[in-house]
Amino acid sequence: MNLAAGKYWDVSWNPIQGCTPVSEGCHNCWARAVVNRFHGVDFARVGFHPTRLAKPYTLRTSRVIFACDLTDWCHPEVRPSRVDAMLRVMLETPQHRYLLLTKRPERMSAQLYEPSADAPRRLLQPGQVVPNLALGITAENHARLLERWSVFAAPAALRWLSLEPLLGPIDGELARHMLGSFDWVVVGAESLGGRPGRVCQLEWIEDLVERCNLVETPVFVKQAHQGGLVRVPIIRGRQRLALPKFFTDGGEQ
Ligand code: SF4
Repeated sequence: MNLAAGKYWDVSWNPIQGCTPVSEGCHNCWARAVVNRFHGVDFARVGFHPTRLAKPYTLRTSRVIFACDLTDWCHPEVRPSRVDAMLRVMLETPQHRYLLLTKRPERMSAQLYEPSADAPRRLLQPGQVVPNLALGITAENHARLLERWSVFAAPAALRWLSLEPLLGPIDGELARHMLGSFDWVVVGAESLGGRPGRVCQLEWIEDLVERCNLVETPVFVKQAHQGGLVRVPIIRGRQRLALPKFFTDGGEQ
């Protein structure tokens, strides 16, 4: 984990790879850029790589593992049997903490629990929580947050929110209620290979930090536009690098 660089995870793990856009936040998709540049395959084809499932078993010490950061695990082409294959690894490696994010939370319960043609007997019982797995949604502005928050129903050891890239303010009456419902919030301005991307006003981030403080939700500010792109910027006098207890303790909070 390199907090000074805004990196709140140790290792990425991608048994599934590929995705298609779902909203304006996808316009400069980081995963697409990485896959196009380094993997030489069509990002729009959602593929499964079973040989990569073994990676967490090979890590000797406890790590925070960002799972599926080269896909959206709730994409309709990600088969439930493949989700189960990942969940099995997570359950068998309780020494690690896993992070998952989606822009399609309306599919989350089905991906976790519902029987399907390829997975008639699911690994998890409905509502079962994987103790070392954080489930989160990602949104780029207030409207997308409202849309996704309202259908984010699955229970989790840690329910988190990533607002990266932040493309508009998170404000209004419901903001307090929404932010207060998460166990952890990460926010960041858009980065295009280390350069600033689309506009993210510093006051949107400052306001968000204040709102999170009011509802006592830990907040991690990954990066901001302050002239150039600044990792872990100073926000109202100090860096904001709050990590929830899940990162050290694991288990349900
Ligand atoms: S949902 Fe995520 S991985 Fe998929 S295209 Fe959008 S930003 Fe990229």
